[in-house]
Amino acid sequence: MSAEVEHRAGAEPPDGGRNAASVALSAHDVGLVRADNPGPLTLSGTNTWLVGRDPCWVVDPGPALDDHLDAVAGEAAARGGAEGIVLTHGHHDHAEAVPALVRRLRAGLVAMTDGEQAGPLTALATPGHTPDHLAYQAGRVVFTGDAVLGEGSVFVAPDPGALRAYLAALKRLRVLDPALLCPGHGPPVTDPPAMLAGYLAHRLERERSLVAALDRGLRTVDELLDAAWADAPPPLRLPATLTLAAHLDKLAEEDRLPGGVERPPWPPTGMAEI
Ligand SMILES: [Zn+2]
Repeated sequence: MSAEVEHRAGAEPPDGGRNAASVALSAHDVGLVRADNPGPLTLSGTNTWLVGRDPCWVVDPGPALDDHLDAVAGEAAARGGAEGIVLTHGHHDHAEAVPALVRRLRAGLVAMTDGEQAGPLTALATPGHTPDHLAYQAGRVVFTGDAVLGEGSVFVAPDPGALRAYLAALKRLRVLDPALLCPGHGPPVTDPPAMLAGYLAHRLERERSLVAALDRGLRTVDELLDAAWADAPPPLRLPATLTLAAHLDKLAEEDRLPGGVERPPWPPTGMAEI
């Protein structure tokens, strides 16, 4: 299957939600090229976004798949060429195609820090999934990378203060009152307030489940995962372990962690697969 291009209002499937998303992308002049790298963490594939035209900017080149690069280059050409490329974070499903795309588009990779601007994009520090994760705002559109996905939740990598910083980042995105979220995976989000409220509620619900499990005397990683992440299917057990570690860090930072709790090893076995 070749890479999927979804950006024209006239090409939408009958499904109403996708129709609304296609209309929203057209209204904001945002193009989506989805890579053919589906998986438990990448959902239906990595989203590469193109914003504006004459020239456009590219958010997250994605995996180095020939079909994907062809589709991104074609979309960039249709937009009058690309001026720059930015990354939300360095995981290979977002960044692997950077060197190839830099060559093909003759556009540079632009590294930004919080508050910096390049082209139509303003960088927003959104730590959590990685400590250096950035989102990008262009008008009322926010490219959220793996801070907020189009469906499901993301794993939070343990790092000092990671989960508290992540919750603060979600609240910060909410204050911006975006009209559209363009995530690293999954469909565009046309109701950002509901999605961001859901993300915040989901993290707090996990914390409640975890605290309840600790109150029942559970102490090992497996016990805590079974109790508080019972819904995580086997392929998501490792990401759930990472997020458990971040939740335990937060409780420890807040002096709410009882003694004798097993902490997941860092980096965990199998981390290279992520
Ligand atoms: Zn990703």
